[in-house]
Amino acid sequence: MEKRHIYMDNAATTPLSQPVWEAMLPWLREGYGNPSAVYRKGREARRAVEAARRQVAIALGAASHTEIFFTSGGTEADNWAVFSGARLALARGKTRVVTTAIEHKAVLESVRTLEQLGVSHTIVGATGDGVVDPAAVEAALGEDVGLVSVMWANNEVGSLQPVEAIGRLCRQRGILFHTDAVQAAGKLPIHLQELPVDMLSLSAHKFHGPKGVGALYVRGGTALPPYLHGGGQEHHRRAGTENVAGIVGLGEALAQAVAHLNEHSRALTRLSDRLLEGLLQIPGSHRNGSGSRCLPGIVNVSFEGVEGESLLLMLDLDGIAASSGSACTTGDPAASHVLLAMGIPEPLAKGSLRLSLSADTTAAEVDRTVEAVAHIVHKLRGYTMKS
Ligand SMILES: *Cc1c(COP(=O)(O)O)cnc(C)c1O
Repeated sequence: MEKRHIYMDNAATTPLSQPVWEAMLPWLREGYGNPSAVYRKGREARRAVEAARRQVAIALGAASHTEIFFTSGGTEADNWAVFSGARLALARGKTRVVTTAIEHKAVLESVRTLEQLGVSHTIVGATGDGVVDPAAVEAALGEDVGLVSVMWANNEVGSLQPVEAIGRLCRQRGILFHTDAVQAAGKLPIHLQELPVDMLSLSAHKFHGPKGVGALYVRGGTALPPYLHGGGQEHHRRAGTENVAGIVGLGEALAQAVAHLNEHSRALTRLSDRLLEGLLQIPGSHRNGSGSRCLPGIVNVSFEGVEGESLLLMLDLDGIAASSGSACTTGDPAASHVLLAMGIPEPLAKGSLRLSLSADTTAAEVDRTVEAVAHIVHKLRGYTMKS
């Protein structure tokens, strides 16, 4: 059999695109100036950073580029929003934060850590489709709540959350609202000027940009304190010498993603439907997630009587890269916290497979993957029957 490599884990990370690489290259080499420096090399780097900031602001429909702050990735943006959002809330006498059971660990673990600072939390559950009901969030709100964090698109099952409705509930009550849009940015239209969102996180490597760079949008007028302390970079909000090449890559990658958004979205929807249809023909398969409210490109299916980890290892032998959920929990045999929060029984949650596509995925790759999964599921069930 010829050696094939099929990459079906684009929700974990994506390859850097050629134009992004080309945009970054000068800033990794001759453009090494520190953007804070006064001489020419510094000023050039500063201009590149500010051009990227404008690209991000435009791509997100923000009112101003001064609302965009660069970070070391999605995790830092989420931590900043949660910790500094909670500090801002505390200063207003609010001691509770509300989030959901399907958040990425970058939000969930941050919220849990707030306990040490005397900030309590309420974790709202999700429906069986992986969607958070605004009424459930509303029921959790109260006079003591100062911050709400609800993700835009879930990274494991692709379910889209009603961020606009939830944001409106928060705004009516003067509560800060943060959304982790790491999976949504570059894949769904975002017009921040029209949304009741105060803070939004994104990460370049999820849309063909480089790893280790992200951004936090902070609505103008929000007195969000810094999370990293030191120099005066990012208007005294985020200290540390800017990752110039990374920031340039982020700006370019997001601009490209948004420019091709409709075209990519149509292609991804077609391919995801084809993939799902193929996988659901395997006996004992169950789709995890929402049929109607789903990010195109993420397909999550559970197989009865199959361990997700074994399935992944055998797919890897077949040259197919996939995931059982979030990359952070791979290697840990515990069932996904997201699938459990959706009420999926533990054995099925442990038999889950997440395939995530990109605009580079082909129909042939989808068909080859369905074939491989069907074959492996059959084989794994055979082993279980014999033992
Ligand atoms: C990948 C991811 C993150 C973390 O982003 P990093 O840049 O890898 O730190 C946070 N939230 C979601 C939803 C993600 O998919």
